[in-house]
Amino acid sequence: MKKLLIVESSSFAGLNTSILNEYSSRRSFLHMTVGRTVGGLVSAAGTEFVNPHRAMAQTTLSPDVALQELMDGNKRFTAERPTAYEHDLAILRQHTIEKQEPFAAVLSCADSRVPVELVFDQTIGHIFVTRIAGNIATSEIIASLEYGAGVLGAKVILVMGHGGCGAIKATIQAKEVPGQISALYPHIQPAVDQTGSNLEPAIKANAKIQATLLRQASTVISGLVKENKLKVAAAYYDISTGIVTLLV
Ligand SMILES: [Zn+2]
Repeated sequence: MKKLLIVESSSFAGLNTSILNEYSSRRSFLHMTVGRTVGGLVSAAGTEFVNPHRAMAQTTLSPDVALQELMDGNKRFTAERPTAYEHDLAILRQHTIEKQEPFAAVLSCADSRVPVELVFDQTIGHIFVTRIAGNIATSEIIASLEYGAGVLGAKVILVMGHGGCGAIKATIQAKEVPGQISALYPHIQPAVDQTGSNLEPAIKANAKIQATLLRQASTVISGLVKENKLKVAAAYYDISTGIVTLLV
């Protein structure tokens, strides 16, 4: 099997970084070709044409396309056909030393069963992730997401609740908890008030409430949303299937 890669430079090593970055090449492929002088066509061991869709020109994506990219990544994850591992991590690290241009931001729970990059089949530099128990929009989280969208240019913010969320469960039960854990409760209470003691509806309501809060409490985020430069959406992650569903 062959991998054909059309390049526009006489030397692979001379390619500028953005061109090089466009190729989701396998580590072995790059190790084999970097530094080798090539003509207009490189042929090497591999299985397919490189896919220009995987280009890292993230800041040019529209909010809808950015959201679709996340959902497509989740489809690859649930189909157990992830591609993120094909990226060369050494090159990605190298290209993200000076800057980052994540195409999306995610506000997720800290729960260990919600590994955000894996769930969306993404790798270094692609998504700006904030995690906190109950995926709540505290002022520090809002500040972080303002940075992700307003400064780094993420085109979508996805607030993602998940099945069996312990933070929501504890809020419903108003459990006595040690230390400062109960500081989470007031943020989650509005969802519990809305849905009663039903866990799954409360989890979904909470994700929607936090997304609304982000849209309304942050002038940076609301401004970008008004200009159609950013989308804020809510989603639910099913920990048993791995499927992310958008909530409307
Ligand atoms: Zn949780």
